[in-house]
Amino acid sequence: MQTAYIGLGSNLGDRLAHLRQAVARLQRIAALVRCSPVYEGSAHTLVPNELSPDFLNAVVEVRTDLSGMDLLEACQRIERDGARHRRVPYAPRTIDLDILTFGGLTCSTDQLILPHPRLQDRRFVLQPWYDLAPETYIPSPIDSTVSAVLASCRDTADLVRTTWLLIQKENEISL
Ligand code: ADP
Ligand code: MG
Repeated sequence: MQTAYIGLGSNLGDRLAHLRQAVARLQRIAALVRCSPVYEGSAHTLVPNELSPDFLNAVVEVRTDLSGMDLLEACQRIERDGARHRRVPYAPRTIDLDILTFGGLTCSTDQLILPHPRLQDRRFVLQPWYDLAPETYIPSPIDSTVSAVLASCRDTADLVRTTWLLIQKENEISL
């Protein structure tokens, strides 16, 4: 069993429904332990803002017997079923799932890089992750904790914590 953290994002259509659907799908393939609060923030984007609506983002903790690659494939199936558009980098997407860490694993293949290579630059990942599990160790090459990486993150994006819940369970963090 490994503990993995998965970052979720949506900025198209019914964004909250997409996040909730992804969490429900993850629960079928892994033991979902906990969900962070949902944050809203403007898109990190290369395209003009009116084409890229605000994102909802959250982080979930799962426990799984799957390998890292199998978990990635499961995440990509969930993205595909959510009809995510992959045409343009940074384009609006109905649902994005990124494996942030997978236990203590460090790896770099064509398909899977762990820990996720852009997590340090993304407050929309680090802030919900911090709410969920601040002392989580992020393996090499980051080799630090979520709280330390957030403290040194230079992303100045404005994020608003919402009161929306991804699952109605007593172990959900609702702040
Ligand atoms: P981002 O999530 O950084 O905006 P994309 O979702 O468009 O970028 O990137 C998808 C690609 O990233 C996929 O081809 C996938 O194989 C690759 N990838 C590499 N490492 C990871 C990871 N840890 N989690 C999710 N996708 C990853
Ligand atoms: Mg992704």
